[in-house]
Amino acid sequence: MSVALSDDIQNKQRIRIKRLMMGFAAYVVCGTIVWLYFLTNQTEHTSTAEIAIATAFSLVVQATFYFMIKSGANLKFKDPSLTIQQMIPGFLWVTYLLSITQSVRGIVLVFYFVILMFGIFRLTARQYLALSVLALSGYGIVIAHDISTNAPQFNLTLNLVQLAVLAILLIWFSYFGHEVHDLRNENKIKKAQLIRKHMEIERQRDEIHRTNNELQVVLSKLSTQAITDELTGLANRRHFVDCLQPYIEQAKDSSEFSICLLDLDHFKQINDRYGHNAGDLVLQRFADTAKQCLRKNDLLARYGGEEFILFLPRADKYAAMECAERIRAEFSKIIFEELPDSPSFTLSVGVTIFSPKSDHMKSENLISRADAALYNAKKRGRNQVVLAEPAFKHHFAA
Ligand code: GH3
Ligand code: MG
Ligand code: MG
Repeated sequence: MSVALSDDIQNKQRIRIKRLMMGFAAYVVCGTIVWLYFLTNQTEHTSTAEIAIATAFSLVVQATFYFMIKSGANLKFKDPSLTIQQMIPGFLWVTYLLSITQSVRGIVLVFYFVILMFGIFRLTARQYLALSVLALSGYGIVIAHDISTNAPQFNLTLNLVQLAVLAILLIWFSYFGHEVHDLRNENKIKKAQLIRKHMEIERQRDEIHRTNNELQVVLSKLSTQAITDELTGLANRRHFVDCLQPYIEQAKDSSEFSICLLDLDHFKQINDRYGHNAGDLVLQRFADTAKQCLRKNDLLARYGGEEFILFLPRADKYAAMECAERIRAEFSKIIFEELPDSPSFTLSVGVTIFSPKSDHMKSENLISRADAALYNAKKRGRNQVVLAEPAFKHHFAA
């Protein structure tokens, strides 16, 4: 059974056995005193049988409680420490010793208080009073019996004084026990309140943690929304400019990066012929296709309407032209089967490379050069890629 008990209960059971052993020690001390007095003092009229009964009683009582605690049977009781249950036989035993002794009664009486000490943290004032009444009436009956039987060696005055002292001390003990009991209860209540408060704080902490996580999710959604174009899922213009600026400030030579402006050809006609939704579909399909043609660090953004801008880090003019051409070619290959007559569409691209001389610190120059190249591509008949650079111009025809 003890295997199934929690650590806390096992620990309490150990303390209960220890208390039982202390009680047993008290029995031994008191019993030994009576035995010694009996063996050394021939005037005492106690019989061996009486002392043997008292000894056997104490052994049986203590053994019973020992097995109850060891087997866990005590756990079924409201008070598993069995305080009052152990005290009552103790009191009866002391009373019995009083009845079979005369001259050691003063010493034996002390053991009422030794027993009361065991209940100091557990018993209520009422229980203390009940035990006091038990002790007083027990001793009272013993005295009455001695008077009625005219017991030898009986000293009435001494016994009445002892009875009075016992009564006073018991009353004092009951009061003292009550105070200690109250104090202990108060501490228990405070402890329970502290535990409750602690749990409440833990709960609030979890709540804050959860809210914080939710806020983080909302925040990251919001910050993604703030930099994303809703229709195409690409970066928006503001985010593109924010990303480009540090590159412009740090770049030192023309091989550092290139920019492309991509514009769908005759897009207005697409809208007019197939409707605005079809126009949106073309924009989305373009975004998906272009993304597939790019490297991980390239950045494609929707610049506005049907115009897109592409940032190509570590791309010189050849790499940039090649990339732009790849996007142009891939897009022109798409057949929009969901639209009437399954049309295909084209786009034009203006490409430019970064120039430390003219573009340092300013994105406007760079973008307007790409815009000029795009304009040229449109002028030259669309569906083509045109490069614009300060020193020379290069033409990539479809
Ligand atoms: P070009 O070949 O010279 O570029 O001609 P274009 O018709 O593509 O250019 P224009 O600037 O005349 O027309 C662009 C059109 O794109 C006008 C506008 O209604 C349309 N547009 C802008 N944004 C959106 C959008 O989000 N969805 C749709 N469906 N159309 C859009
Ligand atoms: Mg256009
Ligand atoms: Mg346009």
